[in-house]
Parts: sequence; structure tokens; C-alpha cells
Amino acid sequence: MEQSAINALRAQSLSPRGHFIDGRGQAASDGATESVISPIDGKVITQIASGTPSDVDQAVACARRAFEDGRWSKTAPSARKKVLFKLADLIEQRALEISVLGVLDNGTEINMAFKAEAMSAAATFRFYGEALDKVYGEIAPTSPDVLGLIHHTPVGVVGAIVPWNFPLMIGSWKIAPALAAGNSIVLKPAESASLTLLKIAELAVEAGLPEGVFNVVTGRGSVVGEALALSMDVDIMVFTGSGTTGRRLLEYSARSNLKRCYLELGGKSPNIIFADAPDLAKAARESAAGIFRNSGQVCIAGSRLLVQEDIHEEFVAEVCRHAENYRVGDPLNLDTQIGAVHSLSELEANLEFVEKAEVEGAQLRTGGVRILGETGGYYMQPTVMTDVKAEDNLFQNEVFGPVLAVTSFKTEEDALRLANATDFGLSAGVWTSNLSRAHRMVAGIRSGIVHVNTYGGSDLTVPLGGVKQSGNGHDKSLHAMDKYFDLKTAWIKL
Ligand code: NAD
Repeated sequence: MEQSAINALRAQSLSPRGHFIDGRGQAASDGATESVISPIDGKVITQIASGTPSDVDQAVACARRAFEDGRWSKTAPSARKKVLFKLADLIEQRALEISVLGVLDNGTEINMAFKAEAMSAAATFRFYGEALDKVYGEIAPTSPDVLGLIHHTPVGVVGAIVPWNFPLMIGSWKIAPALAAGNSIVLKPAESASLTLLKIAELAVEAGLPEGVFNVVTGRGSVVGEALALSMDVDIMVFTGSGTTGRRLLEYSARSNLKRCYLELGGKSPNIIFADAPDLAKAARESAAGIFRNSGQVCIAGSRLLVQEDIHEEFVAEVCRHAENYRVGDPLNLDTQIGAVHSLSELEANLEFVEKAEVEGAQLRTGGVRILGETGGYYMQPTVMTDVKAEDNLFQNEVFGPVLAVTSFKTEEDALRLANATDFGLSAGVWTSNLSRAHRMVAGIRSGIVHVNTYGGSDLTVPLGGVKQSGNGHDKSLHAMDKYFDLKTAWIKL
């Protein structure tokens, strides 16, 4: 990646974007638009269509038509594979352009956006393109006078709603397996981060995906998202976002057609440092990265640091040192390590968390302030707070910003009790040289993923999903495909 190429892309003006329905850009039915504000400098960079319920109905009808006439759902797996591979190629060829577009509207540092958004989206389309012709039906072990066949059939029309953090990566985790299984899609991106997903929808048609199979309706969650989740003609909803919206989706389902809802929600993930960790310097470095990368706007961020009493002071000092040394700033600068907070309201909410935590008795060790205000952008100094108690707001609730809550513990039992003492269960980390303890903690922590002697890594081969109030679905891996199929039994009397 060259800084000059990034600068040239950033200098281009962005034309207003409409929805993408039936293979074409389209304005909202009432012509309304929303401004897209860049967190880099607080300036309006373009407009998107502000969708209406009738836009959603049109997109759903179009997706249904496409599904029923079989233009995609009834094509040979080998043909679907070709299209998904081609789409992956196109994304890779345009990876820098797509990454810059994404950074402009969501503020993720460009190095991360390139890898975790554009390149990861390409890899995801390839992974599910490769997987789709490895899904076999079954013959049931019935008595010999009967043949019981179990078919995998696509569910039909998939409604997808995604958040503003890593919209392309998370969107692809849903779009790719849904398309691989032969479904049609209506996707609603976050109103503040729609640009990359609109681009992918265009590229999908360029790659050979029939028009009408993958539609994007932009706009407000309370209008477009609600209409989509209430639609009687959407068969399943796949969602990533907050628990508040996840709850609403379940209500919408109950009020409409009882569609299945798969929810990937928030977290307050414990990262547990035992005094016998194999490499405390590495643990401190990765613990800092595990909360501060992308300004803490990562669902699996290790936002609760639990540190064994004997090493607490020196470990916290080391994490603070990393926090203070990060280069925070313009996310389109290749030297930047931590980019912008996504919006002014998120920044204000982060600062309020810090204020409340101080009132509750936590100690502010570093950060806690807005910085680079002169740019007009939304930046926050990585923040470390110690003496956070299990009953505190900062311990129990997701900040979704660069704020680390530190709590000390004495014994393994204490650590496990604290780890499980929230309503969330998305991710966790355990640092220890003791193999038996590592296994005990993996078994005892109630979360979808437990990292051992590392934090935050994974790839497409393993599922990502939560337990408790962190959700109920899984993105990534072959398991993610299950939700995009219905099982159909054929019971044949011989
Ligand atoms: P959010 O719930 O506010 O919004 C998510 C999406 O839902 C957006 O597209 C929004 O427009 C839409 N929406 C809002 N209100 C709606 C409604 N009434 N009906 C239908 N749709 C509606 O979440 P956010 O602030 O965009 O994202 C941050 C949250 O997402 C955090 O809690 C984070 O932990 C979570 N997240 C989870 C994962 C995961 O894999 N578990 C990954 C990334 C983010």
C-alpha cells in the first residue's frame, strides 16, 4: 500500500448513493437522503438514500421473485461457485479503493481495513464458494421398505442487518454463505457505514450474480430495519449489532411470521492474566491491542482485564505504557495505529462511561479524554481504569470504545467467578503456563471463544458467536452455512 495512492483515492469526491435493488441504484421512494459524516474530520462526505418501508417491500418482492424463478436458487453449485470466486477476485482487485471508502465512513485504521475488511471479504466469498458443493444430503437409516432422504434446501429470502463496525467483513460473513446456499438477500447496512456494502452489491452483479438476488436498502434502523424484520415475506433474519436491537428483532418476528432470528450481539469480554503467564510482556502488548485496536470498536474486544494480584501493578503499568505510545489519528495515514471513534455520539458515550466509573470509585490511570479536536474528527486517548468492581457499570456494560476496565483477583476460582459475572458471553482470554489450568478455564468460562496465551486471533475455519446475551448464531466456518438451509425430508415407501 502506498500513501500516495491512498491520498489520491481520498481526494475523489463521492457521488450520492441510492439503494441497490434489482441490480440498479435507486433513490428512496420519497426522495429522502441521509448525510454520511466522516469520523476523520466530522465533515459530510456524501448522501445515501434514506429508505422507506415501501422501498423495503419492493426489495423483498424482488428478492422473492428472484428466488422463486430459480435464476440463482436453482443453478448448479458449480455455477454459483464460479460467481463467488469471481466476486472475490473483483474485491481483491479493488481492495484499496474499497478499503479507503470504508475508512472514510467508519474511521477504522487503513492497515486494518485493508486486511480485515476488503481482503477478508474476498477470502470469505472464496471460502463459501469452495464450500457450497461439499454440502451433501443424507440417507436416513430407515427400515428397508422405506427410503428416507434428507435434503438441504435454501431458506428463501434472507434479511440481513449489520452494524457500522467492520461492515464489510461482518456483511460478507452473512452474504457469502447465504448466496452459497442459493438464497436471495435484502441487506440493511448501518446508516453511517453503507458505502462498502453498496459497492459489493454492484461488484456481485459484475461477477455474474443475477440481478435481484442481492439487494441493499439503506437508511434508518427504526424504519428500514424494522420494516425488513417485520416483513411477512422474509424467511430468516441474520443480525449483528447491539442487544437492544437484537431484542427488537425477536419482537418483530413474534409480531410477523415467526421468522428465525440469528443474533450476533455485544460483549464485555474478560482477558485473564495469571502470574504464571509464559510471557508477561507479550501478554501486556496483546492485551492492549485486544482492547484498543479500532478504538475498541470490536465486538470481541478484551474490555475487562482481570489481573492476578501479585503482578497487578507492574502489568497495569506496562499496559498503560502501550496505551500511551499508540499513534492515534487520521486513519488514512499509514503510520496511524488507532483511528477514529465512529461518531460524535459514540465518543460522548465513551467519555460518559469514564466519568461514571470515576464516580463509582475506579481510578483513571491513563486517557479518558477526547484528543485531536482541532481536526473536527472524533478521537479518544486509549483509556485504562483500575479498581473496577464487579457490580460497577464499567464492569457490566459494553462501552464499545477504547476503555479498559481492570480488576484484580487472587485465585483461579476468583478469576472464573469474575469472568462469568456479566450477562455477556462472547469472547475471553486466558494467559497461563499451566496447561491444566488453561483447560479448566476454557471449560469453565461461558463464552463463544476462549483465547489461550494470545488475544483476538481467529480465521474463517472457526465459528464466531456468543452465548448468554451475546447472541445465538454463528458466523464463519462451515457451521455458519447451517442457518441458510432448511432440512427437508422425503419419506418414500418402496
Ligand atoms: P445497533 O444495534 O445500534 O445497530 C445495528 C444495526 O441495526 C444497524 O444497521 C442499525 O441501523 C440497525 N437497527 C437499529 N435499530 C433497529 C431497529 N429498531 N430495527 C431493526 N434494525 C435496527 O448496533 P451498532 O451500534 O451499529 O453496533 C455495535 C454493536 O454491535 C455492539 O454492541 C457490538 O458489540 C455489536 N457487534 C457484535 C458482533 C458479533 O459478532 N457478536 C460484531 C460486531 C458488532
